[in-house]
Amino acid sequence: MGHFCVNCGAALVPRIIEGREVEACPNDTFVLWHDPKVSTAVVVEADGGIVLGRRAIEPGYGLWCLPGGFVNSDEGPAAAAARECFEEISAPVELTGLIGVFHIAKTDAPSMVGIAYRGRLVDGARPSAGSEMLEVRVFPLDSLPPLAFPSHTTVVGEYLKSPVRAEAAEPQTASAAAPRENRPSRSQARSRPRRKP
Ligand SMILES: [Zn+2]
Repeated sequence: MGHFCVNCGAALVPRIIEGREVEACPNDTFVLWHDPKVSTAVVVEADGGIVLGRRAIEPGYGLWCLPGGFVNSDEGPAAAAARECFEEISAPVELTGLIGVFHIAKTDAPSMVGIAYRGRLVDGARPSAGSEMLEVRVFPLDSLPPLAFPSHTTVVGEYLKSPVRAEAAEPQTASAAAPRENRPSRSQARSRPRRKP
């Protein structure tokens, strides 16, 4: 495939490692592993629905998507998700839980591991379009637009059927006699990025 070693510049040659054919350097230990990229997406809850942005860049120019993006090597996924939200919707977002971890298979680019969080705007913050967005808007859950990426559609689907949401949507009537301690409080359900000492 015409790739070269990042250490010594030699043309890589096929090698079988753990039953998988990879390209490797004939001179040193470099192996061209096809690792997935790690990306994040956040379902940001706001009054009246969730926050979506309309993309000002390719891929998906002009289409709506969840805020999120790639994880840099020097940050954790939750920190990356919060950072990307701030860049894209210009508002601080507090992550409140994990929706799921997804494999996004691609053939024309590295596949991705997508990590999807629930979050909400911090204390009445108002979202506005960052440089990668044409506009941002809060959409009611029953009238969401088509999304730019199938993976985001999957994430929103998982969010809509997640137990935490179903619980939150339950009317708080007297007949809902389940002991309160069975219901995670907001602060317990919150998952903040943890700092390593
Ligand atoms: Zn080499």
